[in-house]
Amino acid sequence: MIGAFTIGFLRIGWIDVVDVLLVTALFYQLYKLLTGSVALKVFLGFMSLYLVYLVVKAVGMELLTSILGQFMSVGVLAGIILFQQEIRRFLLNVGKATSFGNRLRMFPWRREPQQERMNITPFIEAAKSLASKQTGALIAFSMASDLKFFADSGDLIDAAVSKRLLMSIFNKTSPLHDGAVIITNGRIRAARCILPVSENPDVPASMGLRHRAAIGLTEITDAIVLVVSEETGQISLVRGGEVFRNLAPADLRARLNEFLFDVAPKPTAAAGSATAEVAA
Ligand code: ATP
Ligand code: MG
Repeated sequence: MIGAFTIGFLRIGWIDVVDVLLVTALFYQLYKLLTGSVALKVFLGFMSLYLVYLVVKAVGMELLTSILGQFMSVGVLAGIILFQQEIRRFLLNVGKATSFGNRLRMFPWRREPQQERMNITPFIEAAKSLASKQTGALIAFSMASDLKFFADSGDLIDAAVSKRLLMSIFNKTSPLHDGAVIITNGRIRAARCILPVSENPDVPASMGLRHRAAIGLTEITDAIVLVVSEETGQISLVRGGEVFRNLAPADLRARLNEFLFDVAPKPTAAAGSATAEVAA
């Protein structure tokens, strides 16, 4: 092998070095993905069982080997089921890092008609009014993932966005106020939707289920979620598991423009008032 070298009896080629580096990077990503979630404990439990299996196999305990062997043979399938959310998040990160989809748009036949930029003013106005009345709200904006699964958990609306409609939905006496509103292609697609609640133990205790649901959705999809707190009247935006809290309306506009349309925020004095919490 070209450039191979020997350590003791081991003959190591450059391919082996690259292989080890890639595996290290993969395990690091896996560690980052699993830290702070119950999945890490499940993974460690599974690895411990696997070690026991290797030991009992090596010493020749046939009965235990066959029992654990049965368990190990379905291990991959069990792993896919148990780590469904983590695998989704991992693949989403890989997809985002390579942004293959964006690159494909270089080719003329892949170019989609430019989507009309949604008017974000009704969301800002509604958030402002809801916050002043201490009325809770949860609004998820779909990006690349269309959130169909979550929209289907609620009631289909498919209506144009307006401040009045958002206010009516989140009005405490409205039958639609519980759960999340999902926005797709600039329209209110559904209300009363159930979002996945984050299991991250680093989420501050001050954040209840509404905030946890916003964090949970952004951990497994690329959605952007707007939260108005019923308790504090604070407006927050959540992206990638990160919460930007206590946004003034101007900050909210700047962040929404940045997150939804990739418009870089203008440096303003108020820009620092929001704090990002709960790293993804
Ligand atoms: P707030 O600051 O508004 O009190 P919070 O983060 O403390 O928010 P809770 O007080 O627990 O959260 O909010 C409960 C409300 O959050 C519910 O009435 C419901 O509308 C919404 N909610 C709770 N869980 C979910 C979920 N999984 N998906 C969507 N909405 C949810
Ligand atoms: Mg609460």
